[in-house]
Amino acid sequence: MTPEHILNHSAYRQWMDRFGPQTEHMILNESVSSVHNQTAHKVRTQLNLIHPRIFPQLPELSRKEVAVSDIRGVKAECLLKYQLRPTLEWQRDMVTNISTLEFVKQAMELPDFPDALRECKMLLGSDLLQTEELNSQYPVFVFLGTGSAVPMKSRNVSCTLVHVSPSKVLMLDCGEGSFTQLYQHYGKETDNILCQLSAVFVSHIHADHHSGLPHVLYERERALRSCGKPFSPVFLVAPTLVMTWLNLFHDHCQAFLHNISVIPAHNLIEGAKGGCPKIRSLISSLLEMYQFEKFQTCFVRHCKMAFGCAVIHQSGWKLVFSGDTMPCEALIKMGKNATLLIHEAHTRRWFRERCNRKSTQVPGLLYAF
Ligand SMILES: [Zn+2]
Repeated sequence: MTPEHILNHSAYRQWMDRFGPQTEHMILNESVSSVHNQTAHKVRTQLNLIHPRIFPQLPELSRKEVAVSDIRGVKAECLLKYQLRPTLEWQRDMVTNISTLEFVKQAMELPDFPDALRECKMLLGSDLLQTEELNSQYPVFVFLGTGSAVPMKSRNVSCTLVHVSPSKVLMLDCGEGSFTQLYQHYGKETDNILCQLSAVFVSHIHADHHSGLPHVLYERERALRSCGKPFSPVFLVAPTLVMTWLNLFHDHCQAFLHNISVIPAHNLIEGAKGGCPKIRSLISSLLEMYQFEKFQTCFVRHCKMAFGCAVIHQSGWKLVFSGDTMPCEALIKMGKNATLLIHEAHTRRWFRERCNRKSTQVPGLLYAF
């Protein structure tokens, strides 16, 4: 796990040589890259067949190239094994590979898929054309996690990124693994995206909606430093109960609170006074930074202090977002005339009864437009 610059230092090389030619060295540092989630690539490749603009291929995640002569051992890969008996050797039979052609072949072998794909492409028609004009339109929504409470191979827990403009990104919920999802989606662009992130909305205190926050914000701090940009905390619009967890994290794990300027979500409810002068000033700065006309919240029917939010941009579009909730009048009222409504939902029939008993998502479509 020696960083590359130390690995290349003459004193360190001499020390490594002292182990003798029989010793194998495995390098696991920033120069190493390896595919770890084959399913993510498979799903994306297959969705890309349907709509290449909405589902672009995942980027190659190769790290800084290192000249072969500089490699002082074997580069680590996910699921690489070293066998001790009967023979000492590296084994790569489990190492993850991605084969785009194989993924396409598997999709095309599904019953009726080729016909359905042809029909879909005819219906989409010119929408499939990727034009410069379309690429420069905002807002853009990137769903980094839609998997509800449990992360799966194909879907992570809640996190949605909203590109409000070419230089401003808003994050809606931030479940565990959101940074990995970011990196998987943006590859080398990740630092640039993190530098554009200035606000995060957390809907409620369940861990699948906020426990990825420390990692994302540490990486943001590093990205700002590495891009030579000034550091400033993100606006965190969240239930105050989330602070119990973040304070604990700050006190017992790692300094964290300098990364956030907290706007309690209840201060943005229609008719609320907006809190103390400091909170009111934070709200004004948030609105100004994103060119939002309004940033509103409402209570939704889930756990204690669960919120939905609505933002109206000065250009006219309105986004409404909610995490888990039972059918909710307040959200309906706040969400009126939304351009886009994003909410959690479940489609399985057996889930309907449970929804009504356990105050969770509305059965229905995952995303409603
Ligand atoms: Zn929840």
